[in-house]
Amino acid sequence: MFFSESRGRCKPVKHVVEGRSGAVRLNYSKPNRVDTVTMISKKHYPEKIMLKKGGTAEETLRPFGRRVFLYIDIYYGRREWKVNRKIFMNGRLVPEEEAVVSVFDHGYLYGDGVFEGIRAYNGRVFRLEEHTCRLFDSAKSIMLNIPYSKQEMNRAIIDTIKANNLQDAYIRVVVSRGTGDLGLDPRKCKEAQVVIIADKITLYPEELYEKGLNVVTVATRRNMADALDPKIKSLNYLNNILAKIEANRAGVLEALMISGQGYICEGTGDNIFIHRKGKLITPPPYLGILEGVTRAVILEIAEEENIPFQEAPFTRHDLYTADECFLSGTAAELIPVIEADMRVIGTGEPGPVTGRLIKRFRERTSSEGTPVA
Ligand code: PMP
Repeated sequence: MFFSESRGRCKPVKHVVEGRSGAVRLNYSKPNRVDTVTMISKKHYPEKIMLKKGGTAEETLRPFGRRVFLYIDIYYGRREWKVNRKIFMNGRLVPEEEAVVSVFDHGYLYGDGVFEGIRAYNGRVFRLEEHTCRLFDSAKSIMLNIPYSKQEMNRAIIDTIKANNLQDAYIRVVVSRGTGDLGLDPRKCKEAQVVIIADKITLYPEELYEKGLNVVTVATRRNMADALDPKIKSLNYLNNILAKIEANRAGVLEALMISGQGYICEGTGDNIFIHRKGKLITPPPYLGILEGVTRAVILEIAEEENIPFQEAPFTRHDLYTADECFLSGTAAELIPVIEADMRVIGTGEPGPVTGRLIKRFRERTSSEGTPVA
């Protein structure tokens, strides 16, 4: 137990709860009165968190998200205190246990649907409009009717973040074709299904944002745009998953996919930039990439900072001989790449242009966005 109770009196108890990826120490003086909570996991929560005295466990830990909730859940055995996460499902905020999808949903059967990954920083949703527009564009492209306006979707996203009391969050919006029969025909699916999940995400270990990432280029080619255009952020991510499997087998965390013509396209969940001969270069959308929201922010920053840039195709040779490289994405944010296919990029350390862009990017994420309140 968190606290020991004997004859109605509570003794302070120190306890360490070990979780899947870290630990948290809670010091209690009274039932559900936390005196201090200290994160002792360096991996995901490098900062030591001292909480204000007298708060309940829920109030105290809520800002730190689901991972902490998990430890507490394990500890309480889900009896005395519950996660109570709310999921948006077709217009209603329901407890996680009730957020279930039919096995006849074509999103499940065929990957027939679209999605978005959005991030909120410090109580503000970063580039909400851009994400919503991309979601609606993806849906239009596959002739999927989203039963809301963009404004209603924005509202639903904000309501979901609010309902989960999150300030910093990763939001997943999924619109699937809905329930049909076992055939492919989307006309059998009467209504699209809209799900919004507000949670946290850690794509890469924290220390790699300082040290940089190793990547490989893989045999799995990026989807050809005339087969399934990578600009559509569809629920069909098998192309990316096959590439990720290759990265896993190579013992690195990210794979770079190449076009049929041999140009670097993108990672499995992020866009790529190199800095070479004084110029920032990123593949052009016509090569077959997702037009990343983060990518667009970086191009904006480059313009502002007078960093020469170009959207141009480049090969593996250009990557190996670049001075700097980094990946960009909503989940990944900006992460330096220091090695590709065992070729050290530049000095083998995150470069100055990457560093400058990361700094400017963080300034924007901490100050811009649509307020959740
Ligand atoms: N490419 C792919 C294949 C992705 O899945 C993502 C993540 N959405 C990105 C690039 C980066 O896009 P964004 O910056 O909009 O998250």
